[in-house]
Amino acid sequence: MKVLVTGGAGYIGSHTILELLRAGHEVFACDNYCNSSPEALRRVRRLANADFGEADVDVRDASRLGKVMTEFSPDAVIHFAGLKAVAASEKVPLEYYDNNVLGTLRLLEAMDSTHCQRIVFSSSATVYGEPKYLPYDEAHPLNPANTYGRTKLVAEQVIADWCAATAGASAALLRYFNPVGAHSSGEIGEDPNGTPDNLMPFVAQVAVGRRPHLNVFGNDYDTRDGTGERDYIHVVDLARAHVAAIELISESTGCEAVNIGTGTAFSVMDMVRGFEAASSRPIPVQFVERRDGDLASYYADASKARELLGWRAELGLKEICGSTWNWQSRNPNGYA
Ligand code: NAD
Ligand code: UDP
Repeated sequence: MKVLVTGGAGYIGSHTILELLRAGHEVFACDNYCNSSPEALRRVRRLANADFGEADVDVRDASRLGKVMTEFSPDAVIHFAGLKAVAASEKVPLEYYDNNVLGTLRLLEAMDSTHCQRIVFSSSATVYGEPKYLPYDEAHPLNPANTYGRTKLVAEQVIADWCAATAGASAALLRYFNPVGAHSSGEIGEDPNGTPDNLMPFVAQVAVGRRPHLNVFGNDYDTRDGTGERDYIHVVDLARAHVAAIELISESTGCEAVNIGTGTAFSVMDMVRGFEAASSRPIPVQFVERRDGDLASYYADASKARELLGWRAELGLKEICGSTWNWQSRNPNGYA
């Protein structure tokens, strides 16, 4: 299939393009590089030993996006482009709605005018909010606790409404849990700007000496060791879920939300110990106050992904920590 990938130079996009190429798909990547480097796509080409089209396009720019869509004429789109920092979303909510919601709307309009009816959307487990029960399944009430999560929920609803109104359309709303890890080559990985908000890039930067210690946000949660628990999903497993989703939407119509997680929760301290083992370096920690808005624990019911996509996570904590360390130690300053 011909697959247009928005946000293709980003962390998850770059790993997904590699898996799409390996599965024999033809790819075109669009990115405005607001949170990524074109270097990621150069490395993907090298790893895949294959070429693909690429354009500097903001998905909200109807005329440039329309031109790319008309020329490439994709069978399907994977929509990664968006902003993802929870704390920033509280400070600049309009920027988040503009990028995540308006960007999705513009993309669907461009798909309509080029007769492309299949989309895979990057959603997030944050759409569920405070757990009414665990594991979260896809029928869990949707009540995001922050602006970022609300932009993802609105975008999901826009896609679902478009899908219902468009004969023959199909959409997969993939609700990612916590994407972590890097490609086993150590050539591509997560390269956040500035101070990382997320646990694993922070831990990796401590291990490599860029930061003195990790602040652990709370050790008094009602969890096994008192620190927060999450369902960490290896980015290569996540990338393969997109290949499976492309297959699903090419054979079906309608809109499906699917959790992409492992079904297992690890604590902050599990991740720290895993990383110490993988890197043979100590990760000094300081226990500090809980971070505002953090939940104690959540993880996926991943059974729908197994049934609908025939996909399950195969990589565990060892591969997550080992690949993150391999990436960070080979690229201490990321793509810079
Ligand atoms: P990322 O920031 O590495 O990738 C997003 C890419 O989109 C970047 O390359 C960025 O430059 C590009 N982009 C942003 N706005 C754009 C626009 N208007 N037009 C064109 N390109 C634009 O983030 P990621 O971790 O790869 O996440 C990809 C998607 O998955 C995002 O939509 C994110 O919200 C979602 N998601 C991520 C996580 C996570 O923890 N990483 C979890 C759940 C969902
Ligand atoms: N966390 C932490 N220190 C950090 C970053 C994160 O203790 O510097 C904890 C956070 O409180 C949560 C877990 O690590 O329990 C995962 O946080 P992350 O920001 O990676 O993901 P999310 O909050 O989106 O689940």
